[in-house]
Amino acid sequence: MKASCQCGNLTAVIVTAAEPMIVLCHCLDCQKRSGSPFGEVAYYPASDVAVSGEAREFTRPTDEGNTFTSGFCPTCGSTVYARASKYPGILGVTVGTLADPFFPVPSRSVFEQSRHDWIEMPPSVPRHPRGRNS
Ligand SMILES: [Zn+2]
Ligand SMILES: [Zn+2]
Repeated sequence: MKASCQCGNLTAVIVTAAEPMIVLCHCLDCQKRSGSPFGEVAYYPASDVAVSGEAREFTRPTDEGNTFTSGFCPTCGSTVYARASKYPGILGVTVGTLADPFFPVPSRSVFEQSRHDWIEMPPSVPRHPRGRNS
């Protein structure tokens, strides 16, 4: 699988046997990061993801006192990858940059407290008002 930004300069190639942990997040920071009503990131073992191209990174604190870093293309602005300090050794790839309408449903939906009202989740998706432990 290959993720790429809008202009194609920043890519992430995923070669893995691992099932991704797919997190759909409705928090206001993910809304601002993505410019969309939610962000969605698929997490893999970092060694299974090869990022190439120029990226800039932005790191923000999380509610739990960890950090969340997103990597984006300085030319077109697409976020292609992300990592959470809480999960060392794991690298996330933004689901939208995979451009695959058949990508699996999220493993969980978090920060439902700020979910846009019209968004409905499939019944199989666990939902949390804030983080996964809420
Ligand atoms: Zn780009
Ligand atoms: Zn979020």
